[in-house]
Amino acid sequence: MSKKILSVLFKGGEYNTPKLLGSAENALGLKKFFEENGRSLVSTSDKGSTIDEHIKDAEIVISTPFNPVYIDQKRIESAKNLKLLVTAGVGSDHIDLDYIQKSGRKISVLEVTGSNTTSVAEHAVLTILSLIKNFIPAHESIKGDNWDIARISRDAYDLEGKTIATIGAGRIGYKILERLVPFKPKELLYYDYQPLSEELRSKVNATRIDSIEELVSKADIVTVNAPLHSGTKGLINKELLSKFKDGAYLVNTARGAIAVPEDVAAALKSGKLSGYGGDVWYPQPPPANHPWRTMSNVYGDGNAMTPHISGSNLDAQARYSLGVKNILTSYFTGKLDYRPQDIILLDGQYVTKAYGADKVKK
Ligand code: NAP
Repeated sequence: MSKKILSVLFKGGEYNTPKLLGSAENALGLKKFFEENGRSLVSTSDKGSTIDEHIKDAEIVISTPFNPVYIDQKRIESAKNLKLLVTAGVGSDHIDLDYIQKSGRKISVLEVTGSNTTSVAEHAVLTILSLIKNFIPAHESIKGDNWDIARISRDAYDLEGKTIATIGAGRIGYKILERLVPFKPKELLYYDYQPLSEELRSKVNATRIDSIEELVSKADIVTVNAPLHSGTKGLINKELLSKFKDGAYLVNTARGAIAVPEDVAAALKSGKLSGYGGDVWYPQPPPANHPWRTMSNVYGDGNAMTPHISGSNLDAQARYSLGVKNILTSYFTGKLDYRPQDIILLDGQYVTKAYGADKVKK
C-alpha cells in the first residue's frame, strides 16, 4: 500500500522562514513526523501537474484553503489509494465532498476546526473599521502632497451607533459579535439556522432575525460568516443586494463564491454599497480581470481587499499545523479518535451538518 503524503500549501519562496510553518517548503513543520511514521512526502505549492501526478498513489492529501487545490471528481477518481484528506485550516469546500459521499469510497475528510477563528474574527473587525473610517484611501492619499481632509472625511464614520449584522453566528460570527460589543453599536443582529443559546446571546445582546432579507435591510454593515455550500453559493447576489440599506458596507471573510463578483461591483458603482471588504475569492488566485481587483465605490475607492491571508497568520499557522499533527497521530495509530468537530466525512459519510447536497436554507 502507498505510504505517500501529498501536501499542497502556499509558496514560501523568497519570503520563507522557519516560522512560516504553513509554506510548502516547511510542510507544517511535520517532515520529521511524517518520516518517523514511515511516510514519504511530496510537498508542493503547484496546483497543476504535480497534483495530477502524485495524487494517483497518495494515501493522504493535506491541503489548505489559502492556496486551494481544487480536489474535484476527476482527481478523486484518479486517487486510487486515497484514504484521508486533511484541510490545514477551516473550510473544506475546495474538495468535492458530495462526490466522495456518492462514490461510496471510504475516504475521510477532516479540518482543524477553530484553528484560525480568532484570526479571522480580528481581520473582519479590522476590515469593518478600515471601510467605515475610509482608512485605506486615507493611507494612500499621503503618498501625494495633497492634505485633502475633505476627500477622506466625506465618506468616513464611527462604528459606535451603527447596526451590524452577521450572516452565520458560528465560531467566527460569534467572535466578531463579541469583539464588536465594546464599540457600542446601536444593535447587533444575526441570521443563522440555529438560535444562539440564551447564555451566548445575552453576552453580546444580539437579536436573531429570521429572514435574511430583513436582516440586510436593517444593517449598516453586514459580515458574512457562513460556510460555502449549496445553500450559500451566490447568496449575495443582485436580488439580495437590492434589499440592503442604501450605502451599507459588506465584509466577507467566509468564501468568495458566496458573493457574485459582478453584482457586488455593480452595487458599489451605483452607491448601493459604500464599500466591500474581504479576503476570500473564487477562484484563488483570481484571474487578472476579476471585478474585485479593480472595483470601486462612487467616490472611486472604498474597498478593503486582501489575498486570502486572514486565517493564516503565524499564530494560526502554529495552531493548524498542530491540529494536522493531531489528526494524523490519530490516523497513524489507528485509534481514529479524532475530535468530533474536525470530522467532515468519515469513511465517505457526512458527520458534520455544515456541508452537503442537502444543506439548503431551512
Ligand atoms: P462554524 O462554526 O461552522 O459556523 C458557521 C455558522 O454558519 C454555523 O452556525 C452554521 O449553521 C451557519 N450557517 C450555515 N449556512 C448558513 C446560511 N445559509 N445562513 C446563515 N448561517 C448559516 O464555522 P466557522 O468556524 O465560524 O467558519 C465559517 C466559515 O468561515 C468557514 O466555513 C470558512 O468557509 C470560513 N473561514 C474563512 C477563513 C479565512 O481565512 N478567511 C478561515 C476560517 C474559516 P449550522 O451549524 O446549522 O450549519
